[in-house]
Amino acid sequence: MHLNECAEAPASASPEKNSPAASPTAGPIADADRYSRQVLFPGIGPLGQQRLAASHVAIVGCGAMGAASASLLARAGVGTLSLIDRDFVEPSNLQRQVLFDEADARDSLPKAEAARRHIALFNSRITVHARIADLTPTNIADLLAPTNQPAPQIVLDATDNFEARYLINDFAVQRGTPWIYAAAIGAYAATMNILPSNLSSRTLSERSESKGEGSASTVPCSLFPVGAPGEPFWLAGVTVPCPPTACLACIFPKPPTGNVETCDTAGILSTAVNLAASIQVTEALKFLTGQPHLMRRTLLSFDLWNPAGNATLDRSEISASTPRPDCEVCGQRVFTHLAGRDRAHITLCGRDSVQIHENRRPVDFSALRARLESHADIADLRSNDLLLRFRRGPLTLTLFADGRAIIQGTTDIALARSLYARFIGS
Ligand SMILES: [Zn+2]
Repeated sequence: MHLNECAEAPASASPEKNSPAASPTAGPIADADRYSRQVLFPGIGPLGQQRLAASHVAIVGCGAMGAASASLLARAGVGTLSLIDRDFVEPSNLQRQVLFDEADARDSLPKAEAARRHIALFNSRITVHARIADLTPTNIADLLAPTNQPAPQIVLDATDNFEARYLINDFAVQRGTPWIYAAAIGAYAATMNILPSNLSSRTLSERSESKGEGSASTVPCSLFPVGAPGEPFWLAGVTVPCPPTACLACIFPKPPTGNVETCDTAGILSTAVNLAASIQVTEALKFLTGQPHLMRRTLLSFDLWNPAGNATLDRSEISASTPRPDCEVCGQRVFTHLAGRDRAHITLCGRDSVQIHENRRPVDFSALRARLESHADIADLRSNDLLLRFRRGPLTLTLFADGRAIIQGTTDIALARSLYARFIGS
């Protein structure tokens, strides 16, 4: 529940790393050098790089996916990043969460702040806002559309749970903000772009603002390959259709119920996360450089481990090109997750306990127990017909057959929700 802004000022590197003595090339690193290879890529070019510098991206979740995506965006020169995460760094994160080190895990540093500090070491020229918070219906507007600074142009999903994703979907569809779903579990990776209905006109108006004196001559025609040869597309009078895509609820009308596999129950390969993050960030770069018409319009997924010998099994692409007319969210514009109506009620109960009043998640205790038994972090795992209980560090989670849970050892609702989402599902 806490909301904490750790960095309003541009991130700065540690004195040791940034001191002239530590570097044979004293002084700041020029953007022209830093981004030279990326600018050479025709899809980006000098104007694309300028647009990235002026961009703001919010990343919800700063675990494996968020760290990978934040690292890629920061190195690409996206000018402002807002990193939103409720957790702290643990030793089991180091296998795949590329922005953290052993000291972060020893110090249990909040992930958003640890990521901000590490980004500052390789790109001190961008601004990173570390937002240590649990994304909820109450604070999502503050986090994704703050009134005291320019709002992020696009939101990247790097969460580990469907509750947060449906909340983001409601918010983004309501506000007309594009977002990119990404998920990884085991060796499986998936991603999908969700583009709003107002994107085409907004993007075109942004481009028309760029028609200022001198700008046209600096635009490589290859940046917008739809124009006549040698001309930026707006001078060619070409409009690029970019109709809305399906939203998350068009494809999956309801979040999954019952036992839901998570990274903490099914395990995860870092390579699967990095694949999903790479695709997600590439799609974001297309958007931020003004090329939404190049963005994928499918739910794309991969199984990186099993050589199916059949392309339809190890790589799958489902069309998400058109909104479903009867979709409750983008069609009927009913935002139940934003209203908090589909959200498990949570209360503090007794001393040092949090109760999650989920009652629509029937639990298969034997299946859940089988998944948790080999887990190194879990102790005192017990179950009977009525409940399942385990201890993890100072926290004890007691789960009932309808999905309700009591987490003892904390009054921190975000911490309790995180434990539940990781081991039971969301
Ligand atoms: Zn929809």
